[in-house]
Parts: sequence; structure tokens; C-alpha cells
Amino acid sequence: ERIVKGTSKTREKLGVIEELFTYWNLEDADETLEELEDALIMSDFGPKTAFKIVDGIRDKVMSGRVKTGDQMRAELKLSIATLLRERGGSSELSLGDAQPAVLLIVGVNGGGKTTTIGKLANKFSSGGAKVVLAAGDTFRAAAAEQLEEWARRSGAEIVRADSDKTRPDTLLFQAVDSAVKSGADLVLCDTSGRLHTNWSLMDELAKCKRSISKRLPDAPHEVLLVLDGTTGLNMLNQAKEFNETVQLSGLILTKLDGTARGGAVVSVVDELGVPIKFIGVGEGIDDLQPFDADTFVDALFP
Ligand code: GDP
Repeated sequence: ERIVKGTSKTREKLGVIEELFTYWNLEDADETLEELEDALIMSDFGPKTAFKIVDGIRDKVMSGRVKTGDQMRAELKLSIATLLRERGGSSELSLGDAQPAVLLIVGVNGGGKTTTIGKLANKFSSGGAKVVLAAGDTFRAAAAEQLEEWARRSGAEIVRADSDKTRPDTLLFQAVDSAVKSGADLVLCDTSGRLHTNWSLMDELAKCKRSISKRLPDAPHEVLLVLDGTTGLNMLNQAKEFNETVQLSGLILTKLDGTARGGAVVSVVDELGVPIKFIGVGEGIDDLQPFDADTFVDALFP
């Protein structure tokens, strides 16, 4: 329920920005730009990122390049899209010619990690790749069950723990080992996501990453954080913590099919300097899209 409220609040605040464009008047430029900055902060863009965006628009207003509300809306959208591209970098997966390529997928429980792994497995399997799913969340039996179902649906193989005493890092080592030996193309590693404030989870993830590298020196080739698009300001704290522990190479933003617009992710890209690579737009196996900055910004400010 809290999430629903937070989301509708974000929508309300983005509505405030729309009003600023409508009633924009050059004489009140300073005041309007301050209100824009406040509204962006209230919409979970975070103070640093909001300041940076508005500062850029202020320059355009001063130099006379932005005169009308429509121009200001266009400028705001352009500056957010540019920030996403320049700070984030490429949204393509960079797997090189690694065989197998290993993706470590992290994120807090409920964010959509397992579902996203299922979607990715399907995407690559349908392209002809031999995919292995590694059920690294060995603490929750249900997680492996769920992953097993995705493996079945996508035609991927799965490596599961044979006992509930198996450590996640051991399981991931075994999965990569088995993928190397069977000549697989891609390994998608699921991980536990119990509360991110739990230090031992972060310690566990660091061990998982090291354990993968022990078996395959250049792996993991990508470390992707799955973020729930309905999360507000807390998204940045979450992302920073994961980044400190496992050095993220990209983000996947889920649940954008609902009312969430995911504005908070802009500050994550800005502050961490990692790109969004995919977005989740539903619970189905095909509901994963490559990230596109312009489309994303069009949805933020329709
Ligand atoms: P995990 O705990 O991070 O592995 O999360 P799950 O993959 O189990 O997903 C949690 C819930 O979110 C499930 O009910 C999923 O169906 C749902 N979910 C995941 N991705 C999306 C998405 O892009 N859109 C919607 N609407 N639901 C999603």
C-alpha cells in the first residue's frame, strides 16, 4: 500500500511540472526554475541530479534559447535523455566473445530478479544460445522452484543446489564449471536478495562474485542490478550499496507497465555512472525491452 501511495505522489508531482510548463512566463523565470527543481526532487530525482538538470535549463533560458513552456519541456526531456546516455554509457550488454558469458544478477527480493532472468533466458534461448540458469538463492527453496519453471519455459538448463546446506558461492562455482564443460553460451546467475541493509547479504554477494571469477577469470562479464520501478528515493541508497559490493555494470528497471514511471532511476544513473540495459514491462516471458533513453523520457513527461 505504501508503494502505491508513493507512486501516485510521484505522478502528482510530475503533474506539478506539467503545470509549470503551462503557466511558464519569462518574467518569473527564476522562481519557476526553483519550483521545477523542487518538483524534480519531490519526484525522486534526488537533489544533486535535479540541481544539475535545472542548472542546464537555466543557462538556456539566460541565453534566450528557451522562451516558452513547450521549449522548456523539450529542454527538460532532452537534458534527462542526454544525462542518461552520457552518464550511463551504452545500454548494450557487453559480453564480448566470452564462452560462456556469465551474468550475475542482483537485487532485493520482490524486485523482479527471477522473472527477469526467465525473460533473459528466453530471449537468448530463442536466439539459439545454450543457456544455463544458476539457482544461487540457495536460502529459499521457493526461489529455485520458480527458476526451474522459467528454465522449463525458456528451454534453458538449470543448476540447483542438491542440499539446503550448499553455499551460494559454491553453487555458482559449480554452475559456471558445468557451463564451461558443456560448452554453454550463457550463464545467468540468480542470487539471494534478502534485505539490502543486511550486511551479511552483501558479504555473501561479494563471495559469489569472487567464486565465479575463480572458475572463469574474466567472469562475471556483467553484474546487473534489478530495480523495482515503483521504488522512490530509496532506490539510490539500494543501488549505491550493491555497487560498492559488486561493482555494477548495468541496471534493469522492472514494473514499468503499471503506474510507475521510474524517475528515481535517473539519479542512480547519474550518481553511479552505470547504464539502464533493459526494462521490464509485465510479468510475461516476452515483457523485457532494451532500454531506450528517449522512449523512457517520453513516458516520464508524456
Ligand atoms: P525476485 O524476488 O526479485 O526474484 O522477484 P520476482 O521475479 O519473484 O518478482 C516479484 C513479483 O514481481 C512477481 O509477482 C513478478 O511477476 C512481478 N514482476 C516482475 N517483473 C515485473 C514487471 O516488469 N512488471 C510487472 N507488472 N510485474 C513484474
